[in-house]
Amino acid sequence: MRNFLKNLIATFVCLSGVPLLVREWICKDRVAILMYHDPKPTAFAKHIAYLSRHYTFISLDTLVSAIHRKDFPQIPQKSVVITIDDGHAGNFELLPIFKQYHIRPTLYVCTQVVNTHRHFWFKIDGQSKAKKERLKRLSNAERLAHLKRTAEFEPDKSYPDRQALNIAEMKQMAESVDFQPHTRFHPILPRCTDAECEREILGCKSDLESLLGVECLHFSYPNGDYTEREIQIMKAGGFRSARTAEIGWNTLGTEPYRLKAIPITDDAGLTRFRAELTTIPQRFSRWVTSLFRSDET
Ligand SMILES: [Zn+2]
Repeated sequence: MRNFLKNLIATFVCLSGVPLLVREWICKDRVAILMYHDPKPTAFAKHIAYLSRHYTFISLDTLVSAIHRKDFPQIPQKSVVITIDDGHAGNFELLPIFKQYHIRPTLYVCTQVVNTHRHFWFKIDGQSKAKKERLKRLSNAERLAHLKRTAEFEPDKSYPDRQALNIAEMKQMAESVDFQPHTRFHPILPRCTDAECEREILGCKSDLESLLGVECLHFSYPNGDYTEREIQIMKAGGFRSARTAEIGWNTLGTEPYRLKAIPITDDAGLTRFRAELTTIPQRFSRWVTSLFRSDET
């Protein structure tokens, strides 16, 4: 039902002509950073084919350099950056599409989950969306204690099946992918102690740099959650940018440690995808979620 409603909203948005208006007017001097997680190749290929006809792909580094230098004219009009979060094993199947369209997306990975048989805590079976949201509001220690008690989950436990990319896949992808850190275990950073937070951010950077032998300068906050403390760690740690999950486009005036994103439904059909490029469905959905949240408290 929820999906039906979302597709209905998407159809209305597309029929209204807003996607064209957003593309030709808003995206003239603003850059969209699309945020994916684990898209299937068929849906993703359709999105990329559509974008290749109407937008110009640029790398995250190109956007961040332009913001730091306060030099936007070098950015083509209607530019888009592709980012994919977490390091899901399924991302490997997207490699032929990256190559076909000559794009170099940024993959933000959790360095103590990739190349292991550990699991992402938010992919534990049987957790409802509401329960996950409640867990995100606990302190890091309370969340882990709860997951251990209720699901026997431990961050460094090995499971029979693999959820994340392994090093052989990452090395094969490295030419077409810009790998960047997304913490070690995907905690909610503002719920961590200072020591945990530094370990998750700086430890992740050094993990990835030693794993791939490249310098990592960009970060994305798990769940988009951050405070001033995380920004200070970014700056002190030598990062040049950090992407949030705040919905919107990026301009010359965007702070590099508060880059905005446009979350995309991984398996969106083309109508829903075109609607999501306007950000209307996502804003509507967050508004509805916030109504229920204020009901709870
Ligand atoms: Zn994530």
